[in-house]
Parts: sequence; structure tokens; C-alpha cells
Amino acid sequence: PPVPRIQLNDGNSIPQLGFGVFKVDPKQTERIVTDALEVGYRHIDTARIYGNEEGVGRALADSRLSREELFVTTKLWNDDQGTQSAFDAFDRSLDRLGLEYLDLYLIHWPTPRNDRYVETWKAFERLRESGRVRSIGVSNFLAPHLQRLFDETDVVPAVDQIELHPYHQQPETAAFAEEHAIAIEAWGPLGQGKYPLFELPEITGPAEAHGKTPAQIVIRWHLQRGHIVFPKSNRRERMAENFDVFDFELDEAEVRAITDLEREGRVSAHPDEVH
Ligand code: NAD
Repeated sequence: PPVPRIQLNDGNSIPQLGFGVFKVDPKQTERIVTDALEVGYRHIDTARIYGNEEGVGRALADSRLSREELFVTTKLWNDDQGTQSAFDAFDRSLDRLGLEYLDLYLIHWPTPRNDRYVETWKAFERLRESGRVRSIGVSNFLAPHLQRLFDETDVVPAVDQIELHPYHQQPETAAFAEEHAIAIEAWGPLGQGKYPLFELPEITGPAEAHGKTPAQIVIRWHLQRGHIVFPKSNRRERMAENFDVFDFELDEAEVRAITDLEREGRVSAHPDEVH
């Protein structure tokens, strides 16, 4: 079955399941993304700071898939925030990816102590007007950061990409985003392997009941909660496993039991502390 698409607040749409390349070795990125495209992924999530945009670009070019079938996201790193610096960083990312346009460009972190995310967002609005990026969004923005964009700029972000897995669901940020039609992208959807999620009865129970793996149960939970999700793996068999989640459904009680695992267990630093 095809991957469902999520409608964004700017009229564009995004494949709900994609492939993330955080910590994918730049030297192996071309091969790994080629594997992902062969498995069926069409949505790739990278960032300047991952250092592997060129490998992503080579894999996309080699695939001979049409540009319209692909959905590519990259992110502006913190030290490129500003106006001209954002324009320059965008040009370089597009160049490394070998693309004529980008599907989604994100401010990677708010870095509130630098206080440049409002200025940077105004630069993003101009990039979108240029047509070289179709959708613009943010990452790791909490409700107060989003509120400032509402108060001081014109365009509502299409997405907020935040750390989100059963142990850290950020209910306040998610509710605020929903209220303003901002789609939630869940990064670290499997908890980056830092929690024993795959051993919890709330996850192993449905895995046995549906004949699926614990990872597939967690991904399925994200999809049914409406999150956009792009789990990462270097291993082709796991890429295929993570993609094979459209032939079953969790029932309401199963979804609720996983949602009830929330315990503010973040894997990263607090967004106000990242610079
Ligand atoms: P993840 O939760 O996807 O975990 C990845 C790890 O889970 C892998 O390294 C692997 O060890 C394990 N894994 C994957 N599939 C598995 C399976 N089927 N069975 C068992 N183990 C499995 O963590 P992530 O890579 O950090 O997050 C996904 C993507 O989110 C990233 O690649 C990146 O694109 C994005 N991201 C964004 C930010 C941000 O600040 N915006 C931060 C981190 C990640």
C-alpha cells in the first residue's frame, strides 16, 4: 500500500513515513540512501550539520526517480541563523543536494539566547516566495518560540520537528501545534535506542498480537497519532521492517496504553539550552 500523505497548512503534502539520516556516515550515505529508495522510501530527512547532504544528493540523482516523487528536507544550522547567512546557507545546501528546489527547509533549533530566530524566519519567508523551497518549518521549537513567530511574522510554520517517542511526547507543544495547524514531525521516533522501549509489555503485547516487531508497533503508534515520522537505520533489513507498517492497525486501547507511557524522558538537551 502507498505511504499516506499529510496535508500541510500551505497546501502542500508530505509522505507521512520517511527515512532520516542523522549519524549516517557521509562516506556511506549514498549507498544507504540508495537502499532506502529501493526499499520504497521517497521522503528523506537530512540537515547541514549531518555532513551528508552530498551523499543524499548523489543517491537521489542515481535513483532516476522523478523529482516530483521525492520529498527532501534539510535544516539550517544554528550558526547560519540571520538574513544573508540563511540565504547563503540555503544556496549551499541546495547545491550539495544537487536540487533545483527543496521540499521543506527547517530552522534546526531556536537557540533563543542568540535571539535570531524571528529574523531567520523572515528570511525563510522570502526563500519560500522565491519558489526554491516549497514549504518552510521549524524544529525543536516550543510553544513560546512558536508564539513569537505568530506575533512577529506572517507565515505559520508548516511543521515543527520535535523529539517525540513514547517516553517523551511533548503534549503542550503538540497541542499548541495542533491548534495552529502545524504538523508534528517526530524525531528520535524509536527513542534513538536509548530506552528499553522494545521490551515494554505495552509494546511487546501488540507485537505478538499483530505478528509484528516492537519497532513496527512504535512506528504504527506514531502514524495513528498523526505524526510524520522518519526512523533511521543503516541496515537494509531494518529499513524494510520499518517501512512494512501499513498492513495492520492498533486498536484504541493499544494506542492509549502506549500514549500512557509518557514520562518526560528526553534524549537530547532542552531546546533552550542548545546553541
Ligand atoms: P531513531 O529513534 O530513529 O533511532 C534510530 C536507531 O534505532 C538506529 O540507529 C537503530 O539503532 C535503531 N533501530 C532502527 N530501526 C530499528 C528496528 N527496526 N529494530 C531495532 N532497532 C532499530 O533516532 P534518530 O535517527 O535520531 O531519529 C530519526 C531521524 O530524526 C534522524 O535520522 C533525523 O533525520 C531526525 N532527527 C532530527 C533531530 C532534530 O534536532 N531536528 C534530532 C535527531 C534526529
